[in-house]
Amino acid sequence: MRKQIIAGNWKMFNNLSESVELTAALKAGLSAKDAGCEVIVCPPFTSLETVHTIAKDSPIQVGAQNMYFEENGAYTGEISASMLLSTGCTHVILGHSERRTIFGESDAVINKKIKKALSAGLKPIFCIGETLQEREGGTTFDVIRKQVTEGLQNVSEAELGNIILAYEPVWAIGTGKTATPAQAQEVHAFIRDLIVKLFSAAAAEKIVIQYGGSVKPENAAELLGQPDIDGALVGGACLKANSFLKIIESCRK
Ligand code: PEP
Repeated sequence: MRKQIIAGNWKMFNNLSESVELTAALKAGLSAKDAGCEVIVCPPFTSLETVHTIAKDSPIQVGAQNMYFEENGAYTGEISASMLLSTGCTHVILGHSERRTIFGESDAVINKKIKKALSAGLKPIFCIGETLQEREGGTTFDVIRKQVTEGLQNVSEAELGNIILAYEPVWAIGTGKTATPAQAQEVHAFIRDLIVKLFSAAAAEKIVIQYGGSVKPENAAELLGQPDIDGALVGGACLKANSFLKIIESCRK
């Protein structure tokens, strides 16, 4: 059975001292019990190294929220995969809907970032998801197919083993509206079937597909109980140690 993975996307929240406080509280809460799943926190760039240092000797892994696909150069304001690795982080969120909509990232750009992250040794948490308009227009599966196919262009099956997929319906992110477990399961099953077609049945069986979109302690267990939901990417509810720890406790053991 696939191990579930719970990741927290801190977005543009938590300065250095707030990051220290939150990581210390998570570490204390996790050492008291067996998490039974993998735990990743994704703080802002400015806190990565500090969070990684505090998280040592705990089950907490550290990820970034973005990166650029070039090795280095005149790209003011950007950060490279090797810079992220030097902070101790192991994962990077790519293709988040906020990057797609606010910063105009295309599937082609996201694909370049995924390829670069993989070749550098970072594990991408690759986000996909439809808008409300797309869902209501009946194009959810077309949108997901395009995002997955183009995002994973020229990714080998061996490389796919280092990718976590995160299905995040855009209409459920930060809105308090969660996909019902049945709605989420339907799309997760579609994605897994797509991985069979693009790669193989073995790759599809192995790949972790997280759900994201207003996951909170009250709805986590039911979502995480679905057969094709292998974890959660959590925004708002990961900013308080108590609620993030409760979501972690909801993992199937
Ligand atoms: C996210 O930002 O990836 C997310 C799922 O946010 P929220 O949990 O707040 O909807």
